[in-house]
Amino acid sequence: MKHDQYKKLIIDSAQALGFFHVGFAKADFLEEEAPKLEQWLQQNYHGKMAYMANHFDKRLDPRLLEPGTKTIISLLLNYYPAQTQHDDQAPKIAKYAYGKDYHYVIKEKLKELLTTLRTQIGDIQGRAFVDSAPVMDKVWAKKAGLGWIGKNTNLIEPKNGSFFFIAELFVDLEITPDGPIKDYCGTCTRCIDACPTDALATPYLIDATRCISYLTIELKDADLPSEFKGKMENWAFGCDICQDVCPWNRFSKIQKEDAFEPHPEFLNLSSKEWESLSAESFRFLFGKSALKRTNFKGIQRNIQFLKKEN
Ligand code: SF4
Ligand code: SF4
Repeated sequence: MKHDQYKKLIIDSAQALGFFHVGFAKADFLEEEAPKLEQWLQQNYHGKMAYMANHFDKRLDPRLLEPGTKTIISLLLNYYPAQTQHDDQAPKIAKYAYGKDYHYVIKEKLKELLTTLRTQIGDIQGRAFVDSAPVMDKVWAKKAGLGWIGKNTNLIEPKNGSFFFIAELFVDLEITPDGPIKDYCGTCTRCIDACPTDALATPYLIDATRCISYLTIELKDADLPSEFKGKMENWAFGCDICQDVCPWNRFSKIQKEDAFEPHPEFLNLSSKEWESLSAESFRFLFGKSALKRTNFKGIQRNIQFLKKEN
C-alpha cells in the first residue's frame, strides 16, 4: 500500500528543520553500484579505510541493514559558510568542518523529524543515518532525484552546488520514488584538472589514497607519504579544491544553521598562530567540531608536513 499522502508532510517537516531538499527512493538492492564498489575495493582505492570493505552486502541493500525498510528519504543540509579563513597563507580547513560536528547537529534534527512523523502518522519504523553506517548516501540522494554525482564524485544539486551534508531516514512506509535527474557535467574537466594529487585521474572515480581529505583525516600514519610533498596546496584538514572549482558551486547559498557558524577566532588564526597552536587552544576552538576526528596530534602532523613542503 502506498503512503504518498505523507510525502508533503515529510517534506514540509524536514524543511522546517532546515533541510533544503528532500527526495524519496525505493529501498532496493543497488545492482548498478555492486560491481563498481567491488572494483573500487579490489583496486584498493579505499586504502586504510578498512571499514569501507566491511558490511559489503548491507552497504548495497538497506533492507539488510534495517529490515522492513521500504523507502530511503534523502535530505540535504547546507554548510556553505559566509566567510572563509582570513589569512590566505594559513593551513586550510575544509568548509564542512568550520562549525559544530555535523554528526550531532544532523542526528538531532533527524530525531526530531522522526518524532514529528510518529506524532502525525502513527507508529512508523524509522532509522536515521548521517555518515555513520554502511550507507551509500550519494547514491541514494542521486536515486531520489536530488542531484547527479559529478566527475569529482560529489553529489551536485543544480540550484545549490555541492557544499551540503547528506542524511538519510530509512522508513517502512512505501512512498512513490522520485526519479534521478540528468548528469550536467558535460565536457567540463575543471575538478580533474585542478586536483593537485591526481586523485580524480579517472572521472567519476576517486582514488581515495591520493585524496588530500583521506591523507589529512583518515590516514593515521606517523607521517604523510613523501610523494605528496609540494602537492598539498596548504590543506591541513580535508580539501575543497574540486568543489571550489566546480562551476555549479556558483549557486551555493550562505548556510543559516547557527551550529555551523565557525568560532570567530578560528577564522582569524594566522599561519604563525597555527604553527604555535597549543593542545588547549585546539580543544577550545575545535573541541566540538569535526576537526577533533584527527585530534591535536593529527593536525600537528599535517601542519608539520605542510611546513616541510614550503
Ligand atoms: S578533495 Fe582535493 S585531493 Fe581530493 S579529489 Fe578533490 S581536489 Fe583532489
Ligand atoms: S568541475 Fe565540472 S566536471 Fe567536475 S564535477 Fe563540476 S561540473 Fe562536473
